[in-house]
Amino acid sequence: DSMTQHPLLDQLNDKQRAAVSAPERHMLVLAGAGSGKTRVLVHRIAWLLQEYHLSPYSIMAVTFTNKAAAEMRGRVEALVGSSTRAMWIGTFHGLAHRLLRAHYMDVGLPQNFQILDSDDQQRMLKRIMRSLNLDEKRWSPKQAQWFINAKKDEGLRAEHLDGLDYNEQTYKEIYATYQAACDRAGLVDFAELLLRAHELLRDNAIVREHYQRRFRHILVDEFQDTNAIQYAWVKMLSGGGRGENENFVTIVGDDDQSIYGWRGAKIENIHQFNRDYPNVETIRLEQNYRSTNTILTAANSVIANNTDRLGKELWTEGGTGEPIDLYAAINEMDEARYIASRIEAWHEQGNALQDVALLYRSNAQSRVLEEALLHARIPYRIYGGLRFFDRQEVKDALAYLRLLANRDDDAALERVINTPTRGIGARTLDIVRDGARQRQLSLWQAAKQLVQEKVLTGRAANAVNTFIELIDQLEDETSDDLLGKQVDRVIKASGLMAMYEAEKGEKAETRVENLKELVNACENFDQLDANMEEDLTPLNAFLAHAALESGEEQADEYQDAVQLMTLHSAKGLEFPLVFMCGVEEGMFPSQQSFEEAGRLAEERRLCYVGMTRAMQKLVISYAEQRRIYGQEKFHTQSRFIGEIPAENLHHIRMQSASPSFGRQPNYGRFRTSASHEAFTETGFQLGQRVRHAKFGEGTVLNYEGSGPQSRIQVNFDDVGAKWLVVAYARLDRC
Ligand code: ATP
Ligand code: MG
Repeated sequence: DSMTQHPLLDQLNDKQRAAVSAPERHMLVLAGAGSGKTRVLVHRIAWLLQEYHLSPYSIMAVTFTNKAAAEMRGRVEALVGSSTRAMWIGTFHGLAHRLLRAHYMDVGLPQNFQILDSDDQQRMLKRIMRSLNLDEKRWSPKQAQWFINAKKDEGLRAEHLDGLDYNEQTYKEIYATYQAACDRAGLVDFAELLLRAHELLRDNAIVREHYQRRFRHILVDEFQDTNAIQYAWVKMLSGGGRGENENFVTIVGDDDQSIYGWRGAKIENIHQFNRDYPNVETIRLEQNYRSTNTILTAANSVIANNTDRLGKELWTEGGTGEPIDLYAAINEMDEARYIASRIEAWHEQGNALQDVALLYRSNAQSRVLEEALLHARIPYRIYGGLRFFDRQEVKDALAYLRLLANRDDDAALERVINTPTRGIGARTLDIVRDGARQRQLSLWQAAKQLVQEKVLTGRAANAVNTFIELIDQLEDETSDDLLGKQVDRVIKASGLMAMYEAEKGEKAETRVENLKELVNACENFDQLDANMEEDLTPLNAFLAHAALESGEEQADEYQDAVQLMTLHSAKGLEFPLVFMCGVEEGMFPSQQSFEEAGRLAEERRLCYVGMTRAMQKLVISYAEQRRIYGQEKFHTQSRFIGEIPAENLHHIRMQSASPSFGRQPNYGRFRTSASHEAFTETGFQLGQRVRHAKFGEGTVLNYEGSGPQSRIQVNFDDVGAKWLVVAYARLDRC
């Protein structure tokens, strides 16, 4: 019929078509990964504009990232052939911000109000808590931040909180004081954006009615991950579906892809929507257009192990495709090397790097992967996260090391003189800065002189002196240590580790992990490998390596580059080739998920999200031994791998060792093999235990070269990884 002829409906299946061309009504599109939910949303908007002649002005669409929003706008414009600038499209935070900008006076904000990012928020809380004379050992700003944001996400102000225990009572007081300070300073944190915008609509009938009249259609993608305040927001804007104006809400989601429960997202919002809105039409899509049958079958089998699902079956015409490769790596370096070699092979076959994604459970895993890619000269981009050496805590630690290496490094001193806090206030710092300027000295030199000359006195002088002694002493005590040990001691003695350990929440955990990971990086750092001049001290060589690596090597936006990201940030995206790495019990599912009810099911949903990103090919890897968070761990493969039907998996074992990073493509060396024996040309077996007269016992990690030149890498229990020339090393088998 004529409907199916419409160009907007051409490339849709029957169910998608029904959803796109439905009469104006409330709709719930509930469907599994890759079934075209986002595509339906885009086509629906185009349909509303073209067929119902709605103005872009009357449409609001909410997506999960700014990138997704930009893409959506582009696709709608391509479909309708005109500008959609008047359409509101963005993330919940972005749209709330827009509302507050338009109505700043109504919500009591100055016109130039500023947004506090998470780090700013924490620093601010730290100041507040000090002004309240709270014991810093007992009360952490991070915990306060977690508390405040969680309450705001539930729509609660400090004055709404009652029935609190003693701890919560204190956090409530912090919340109230903090909020007053933010209000005075015209500062708005992320959670406040949503809360304040909600209050604006709730309390101001004129504004509310204006937007209810304006937005005839509100469409929300990834609805399974909305939290309480976000849902309240949608209800407010749409008059709860029962307002005087005709408003229609379309929500799109997949209960199996709900992965933000730990941050307050509520899958139940899907059911709530059905209860709150009248005559909701539910549309289920069942055909997957993204992945091969193999990938889809495997993902379906994994998620089938969860209970309490809304239940959906997905099928595809995509063909069987290749099996899922499963690589059992000896350790994380072997895993990273293997992945790099596979990417090289992929690239050599004429495929684009941007079609490749590397997905991992936690950010700390990226370092080893980054290094393998750097050595293989494969451009990459980290999506939604900082590069390892750019992360705050890593920069803090590096700043201490830079001071050890060079006391006159003013930037490093500025960064750590009061991190962690040691009572050196802004006024003291100003005096030091002035002194340095007048005397043309470095901050370090100036500080020393000012203390000696008693320009600084009392507590200020003591505090500065303590810092000077700390740095001098650290250098004295650690200059003979191996680099890894030196860094470990610096991180601990400076109080950095303790500071981050005292904080609460997911991000703080990550910071502690990253500090430990920095120690790993130092232990495994090989000066020659990094092409650093041999006459640099190991510390200086490492610092140079860190500085050089953090800058230019990151691929620019237009360069063809592999994408690295956490499983969480991969939501909604798709790639022809996907690597899921670190798929081990204790990594993924994570250790914490064994203890908390519901977390394991959420990990499994995360696994489902990861697997269903792959279009043509999925490669899963795990490491039998992994140095992570500063400890050597032996892992078994994740239970999720066991949930994949055996016939969909293709086991890959290493047949012989690969040379170190930076060699020619070595994909050819990896062949299918049932055996796990892997002798190097040196006569030693990878993973084998050996003993060295000086360094003690260790495990063979790697080798390179042959004949008299051949070198072997051993991870010694006491001194970490070392490259040795086999001919001289006199290793004994244990
Ligand atoms: P996710 O749950 O991962 O967000 P989704 O349900 O939003 O997935 P889309 O991203 O919209 O799925 O679609 C997945 C892929 O399938 C996209 O490349 C999309 O263009 C394609 N696709 C969807 N429907 C069709 C169709 N009817 N014909 C051809 N391709 C389609
Ligand atoms: Mg989608």
